[in-house]
Amino acid sequence: MMKTIKSISAMRRYTMHLKKSGCSIGLVPTMGALHDGHCALIRAAKKNHNIVIVTIFVNSKQFNSRGDLKSYPRSLRTDRRLCGHEAVDILFLPNEKSVYPLGFQTEVFVKNLSKVYEGAARPGHFKGVTTVLAKLCHIVSPDQLYLGQKDYQQAIVVKQMLSDLNLPISLSIQSTIRESDGLAMSSRNLLLKPTDRKSASVLYRALQEGKNKIRLGERSGYKIRRSILAVLRTEPSVEIDYIAAMHPYTLEDMKLLSKKVVLAIAVHIGNVRLIDNIIVRIDK
Ligand code: AMP
Repeated sequence: MMKTIKSISAMRRYTMHLKKSGCSIGLVPTMGALHDGHCALIRAAKKNHNIVIVTIFVNSKQFNSRGDLKSYPRSLRTDRRLCGHEAVDILFLPNEKSVYPLGFQTEVFVKNLSKVYEGAARPGHFKGVTTVLAKLCHIVSPDQLYLGQKDYQQAIVVKQMLSDLNLPISLSIQSTIRESDGLAMSSRNLLLKPTDRKSASVLYRALQEGKNKIRLGERSGYKIRRSILAVLRTEPSVEIDYIAAMHPYTLEDMKLLSKKVVLAIAVHIGNVRLIDNIIVRIDK
């Protein structure tokens, strides 16, 4: 039976007890509105740990616009059912006041990796992410944290934080789960108007075009970005935020592609901001 815990102290007491009895804990942090992408993280964690903890917390600190926070989809009832169905052991639902009580003033910030791409487009976003994840890691003391490749930069920023803060927690990054037309699953997809939802499939097609060009021998980061741009431009409703060919660990712009590259894009369609990426391995 799934246990639901709302208080931070109860969560801490329970995980201390679990650790003492030798349990291995996998943590899947989410903001709810759960979909198959989240389920994939839960299933991966279930394979490796006796105890899987899912947190649902819509973290106000990682939103850089009030409107975005307000419109973020919430569906606790179905989320709870889905977690039960996936045999989650503990659903942790802390509330805003307990996570950020009056007088809260400590922030965790990964300086350089947080500056570029998503960090540049959404000031304060990663500071919010790393602050809440540092707290969740302290409260839950998991052995492993499960994040999605869908938010590639987030995973790299969090990896750096775990290392810098000497947190004895490994990171597992799971592949992106997609809809049948290639659109990466995201809670934000629920906010797309039907016509925009159709247009949104262009993101994956554009990334695939970049990958094809690499397969055909193109090694110029600039030219790959241009080929992605050309596909995105076929959808007039898509407003481009950035197109990147980045180094998988440093996130630096790759001018000459070699070994491995992350092709990443961020766009607006209607009022909805969507991101996606693929990792392309380069043999020669
Ligand atoms: P969120 O609830 O959007 O904060 O996401 C919680 C976790 O699920 C993050 O680690 C995301 O990267 C991951 N995630 C979101 N969408 C997907 C997806 N389509 N496939 C795999 N993981 C995902």
